[in-house]
Amino acid sequence: MIPVTKPFLPPKEEVYQLLDQVWERQWLTNNGPLVNEFEDQLKKYLGLPHLLFVNNGTLALQIAIKALGLSGEIITTPFSFIATSNCIVWEGCKPVFVDICADSFNLDPSLIEAAITPATTAILATHVFGNPCAIDEIAKIATKHKLKVIYDAAHCFGSSYQNQSVFAYGDISITSFHATKLFHTVEGGGLFSNSVALIEKMAFLRNFGYNGPHTFAEVGINGKNSEFHAAMGLANIKYIDEILDKRKSLSNYYRGQLQDMGLQFQELNTHSNYNHSYMPVVFQDSASTSKVVEALEANHIFPRRYFYPSLNTIPLFNASESCQVSESIASRILCLPLYHTLTPADIDFIVLTIKQSLSS
Ligand SMILES: *Cc1c(COP(=O)(O)O)cnc(C)c1O
Repeated sequence: MIPVTKPFLPPKEEVYQLLDQVWERQWLTNNGPLVNEFEDQLKKYLGLPHLLFVNNGTLALQIAIKALGLSGEIITTPFSFIATSNCIVWEGCKPVFVDICADSFNLDPSLIEAAITPATTAILATHVFGNPCAIDEIAKIATKHKLKVIYDAAHCFGSSYQNQSVFAYGDISITSFHATKLFHTVEGGGLFSNSVALIEKMAFLRNFGYNGPHTFAEVGINGKNSEFHAAMGLANIKYIDEILDKRKSLSNYYRGQLQDMGLQFQELNTHSNYNHSYMPVVFQDSASTSKVVEALEANHIFPRRYFYPSLNTIPLFNASESCQVSESIASRILCLPLYHTLTPADIDFIVLTIKQSLSS
C-alpha cells in the first residue's frame, strides 16, 4: 500500500531520552522546559526572533484573527484546506472568496481590490503547497486599503521568500505541525509575527489570558502545547535538512518521470526556495482525473484530491462568488504520494499506472 503521506518518525530512543527528562521533572505541560527549548531551536533554525508554539494550526489561525481584532469581511482563497475559511466563520467574520492564479494556485492579487468593501478588514491567504503567494503585491494592496494580512503557511516549513523564512511575512503568519505535514510534532502549530506587541498579546491569548497568578490581560483560550509534543519536535528537527533534501530529490525524480504526459505542475515563485512539501499534478479534465484515481486505487496507491472541493462551493459558507479557476483546478488536481521513505521504484510504479490509465 502506498498512501499519500506517511509521518516522519525519528529513532524511538531519541524521543525516549527526552521523555525520561519529562518523567524526572514530572512537568508535563504549561510552558515547560522542552516547549521552551523547542521554541528556541525553531527560532534558530528559521532565523526568526519571535514565535509561539501552540496546540494546532487551526487554533493558531483563530488566535491570529482574535489578536488583530478582525471583524466584518476577510478576503480569502477558495483553494485551501477547509480550516482556513472555517476559522474566519468561527471568529464571527465573513469569508469573501477571491479566485486564484491558474499557474501558482495562490490568491490572484489582481482580483483583490475589486472584492474590497467598507466591511473588509483583512486578507487571509494560503501559500498553497508551500509555494509563496505574491507577497509584495498583497502587502501593497493591504497598505493602500489599511487591511491586515494573515498568511496560512501551514505547508511552508522550510520554504523561504527573498532569503527569509516565509513565516516572516504578513502581520501574522501561522503554520501547522500536524503529523501529515513535512515537519511535525504529532499535533501542533506555530504563530509568527515581527510585532513584539502582537506576539505578547498572542502569548496571553494562548494561556487563558493570564498575565499574573490572578490577573488577566485578555479573554484567552487554551492554545498551549505539551512537553510530549515538544519532545517529538525536538527529535524531528535534527532531521529537517535530511527530510527537505529527500523531498527535493523525490520531487525532481517525479517531475522527470512525469514529463510529456500533458500534465500541469504548480509554477513556483521565482524568489523562493521551495520545500517540496507536496507533489501536485493537474490533469486535463476531471474525467481523466477520476480514471487515474481509480487505476491508482486498484493498485493500492492512494493519492489525495487536494484541495477539493473549491471552498466557495461548500454550502456551509453560503458564498455567492464563483471562482472558476479554483473550481477547475480543484476538479483536476491530485497530490501524489510523497514521504520520506517513498522510493524511486515506488514512483516508477505510480507513474506507470498513471500512464497506462491515461492511454487506455
Ligand atoms: C493542515 C492545515 C491547516 C490546519 O492545521 P492543523 O494543525 O491540522 O489544525 C490549516 N491550513 C492548511 C492549509 C492546512 O494544510
